[in-house]
Amino acid sequence: MQSSNTMGEAASPAAGTATELRNLVGGSWSAGRGQAVTLYNPADAKAEVARFTYSTQDDVRDAVTAAERAFVEWRSTPIVKRCRILAHCKELLEQHRMEIARLIVIENGKTLGEAEAEVRRGLEVVEFAAGMPSLSKGDYIPDISGRIDGYMLREPLGVVVGACPFNFPAMIPMWMFPVAIACGNTFVLKPSEKCPMTATRLVELFQEGGLPAGVLNVLQGDRETFAAMIAAEPVRAVSFVGSTPAAEAVWKLAGSHHKRVQALGGAKNHNIVMPDADPQGAVNAVVGAAYGCAGERCMATSTVVLVGEAGKLLPGLIDAARSLRMGDGLETETTLGPLISAAHRDRVLEYLELGQREGAKLVLDGREASTDGLPDGHFLGASIFDQVTPEMRIAREEIFGPVLCVMRAADLDEAIALANQSEFGNGASIFTNSGGAAQHFRTNIEVGMIGINAGVPAPMAMFSFGGHKNSIYGDLRAQGPDAIEFYTQKKTVIERWFGTGPTGSIWSK
Ligand code: NAD
Repeated sequence: MQSSNTMGEAASPAAGTATELRNLVGGSWSAGRGQAVTLYNPADAKAEVARFTYSTQDDVRDAVTAAERAFVEWRSTPIVKRCRILAHCKELLEQHRMEIARLIVIENGKTLGEAEAEVRRGLEVVEFAAGMPSLSKGDYIPDISGRIDGYMLREPLGVVVGACPFNFPAMIPMWMFPVAIACGNTFVLKPSEKCPMTATRLVELFQEGGLPAGVLNVLQGDRETFAAMIAAEPVRAVSFVGSTPAAEAVWKLAGSHHKRVQALGGAKNHNIVMPDADPQGAVNAVVGAAYGCAGERCMATSTVVLVGEAGKLLPGLIDAARSLRMGDGLETETTLGPLISAAHRDRVLEYLELGQREGAKLVLDGREASTDGLPDGHFLGASIFDQVTPEMRIAREEIFGPVLCVMRAADLDEAIALANQSEFGNGASIFTNSGGAAQHFRTNIEVGMIGINAGVPAPMAMFSFGGHKNSIYGDLRAQGPDAIEFYTQKKTVIERWFGTGPTGSIWSK
């Protein structure tokens, strides 16, 4: 057992040595007792970045028990005190902001600028959570009936568990545990097994920032680890973000154990460009949304629908996508980082072949792009398919890579109908100069997050984040007001007092 995970020393990519990751259980760091795993830098698959072991059923039991014990004190710690600790943690994270961003780059591959933006989004959730005293106040109606008061108060649930995807190793953990903890719960986090370094470092910083032992725990592991966490008896609620099949499996498993669950899944997001849109603004936004984070974003634009004369924008889209510079995310000139793994790159390559077999026209082939001096990275250049039709698999399935599908529509209603055919409903955007078109789009598009002249309509921390249809299982979304709703249960009280107070003794009556 150790009191520190020693991540701080190895957080610098210059260190060149793999970081040993551990579990944090009840305030002590120790290795999981399961299978050993080594992770490599996606920009250089020969460079080891982390080693760790998966957690076993016993590790899960220990962590959940530690969280259950810590809940007794934590729930009765005054909310202002809980939030003061979180505010202090946030200051610590600010001091380590660049170190966290560099960790994201070396384990995930995205560019440093993208990583910095991700850390900022996560920090905003911590800021939001630190305001919990004002945010989670109950309701009170005096004299709701003759000398009767009615009120509602919120209380924490108990032990909450969360599992995260690989693509936002800092932001998505911070969607979960800061809000849960501010509400008085204790938390067991399972980072992505593909990108666990950043989340583990965050947990270490929250420990250093003053969270009492057992309030925040971390378990390294895979889907089996998380299934064991969901099933563990003391666990009251399950937060999940990942692919749609996994979200559905988690939602069903949690439901079968009668656990509260929010499970956010995959996406296939559409951008509609109207003929009256600002041409350069639309091209820049679509390309940024399609290829940012190498297309590995649940808010990535995977299809652009060019309406009427907007079809003329295709050459501009091709030029802008071709000009992206592939490379190591730590290099300042890089605008397109590698994919997460060789297996994932192979999967995206299969979609390029599939699209051609399905009859789409590959007008920009990312396989032709190259990187200098990085032969072992999982790089793939930007690709564009034109003449994509809705029945094609490349139009329907989440590719999660730097591939943009182009569809054409005669008018806005046809474009909306194309987007609404998707089984997913995460985000969608319109580019137009018409308020009427934007309103029509907002009303009729079937997604949870809408952009108007904005390519990536990801809500900030004060709003909740989540989609519709197969992009979510469960009713409450991540961060913002839904998160408070999710991490608390309500009690309503009807209160009546007999007599008028301390003037008389009941014994004298
Ligand atoms: P993934 O589904 O493979 O894994 C996500 C997490 O779930 C991991 O921690 C993994 O260990 C766990 N897991 C996987 N299958 C499980 C199962 N059957 N039971 C229990 N746990 C399981 O996803 P990924 O490849 O890491 O991430 C990419 C996916 O996440 C994409 O589909 C993307 O759209 C989605 N995503 C969605 C959002 C959103 O807000 N909707 C945000 C980010 C990523």
